[in-house]
Amino acid sequence: MSVIHPLRPRYSNAYLVVGDRPILVDTGSRGDAAKIVAGCAAAGVKIRDLALILHTHVHSDHFGNTVDLAAEAGCPVAYHPGDQPIAIRGDNGPLRGVGLRGRILARLLAHLPFRTCAADIDAEDGVRLDEFGIAGSVLHTPGHTPGSISVVLDSGEAIIGDVIMGGWAGGAIRPTKPNFHYFADDLPTAMASVDCILAATSSRLFVGHGGPIAHEAVKRWRASNGRRR
Ligand SMILES: [Zn+2]
Repeated sequence: MSVIHPLRPRYSNAYLVVGDRPILVDTGSRGDAAKIVAGCAAAGVKIRDLALILHTHVHSDHFGNTVDLAAEAGCPVAYHPGDQPIAIRGDNGPLRGVGLRGRILARLLAHLPFRTCAADIDAEDGVRLDEFGIAGSVLHTPGHTPGSISVVLDSGEAIIGDVIMGGWAGGAIRPTKPNFHYFADDLPTAMASVDCILAATSSRLFVGHGGPIAHEAVKRWRASNGRRR
């Protein structure tokens, strides 16, 4: 059984997942490394014990400390090849806003740079994580970015990144309510990914901002509000 420990960097969530070995999913924004190290230590994990640093997608608030933490851990870095163009560029690139607030934020946060590195492992759809100590697999869930993935545990829980988000104000208000993320490269594709996630999971869904969100709540949201766009 693998256990998900939410870490709380400033602007996004990162997660320590502990099974037979620990892995880190996402690394926060630049400057969050100390918080991530402390969060891991609180769960009894040292950075050098990490078996893998896996990314739900390549954006500055999820990849901000990867280079430093991977150097300290000496472990492989993984992300989906669909996000390789973002990684090669080393900035968020243009962001497509969802709704008015998303369009305003997209102007502010587009092209934010971050330190980047190549993937040692391609986190492609269906890749099992057992060799890294985690009973679970990668599910390709594009839409927020082309290479967005979810980490689906055999327990029925999942870390789904920014496919949707929890609540409003970046997750500060009503964090367990499903909501559209501010940005989606391709919103219909993101919504199709929500359907794939619902089919592949049965329990709590951990998101990049706010959360966790109950499976049932996402199902209800998708059946009503989520279909309007
Ligand atoms: Zn993102």
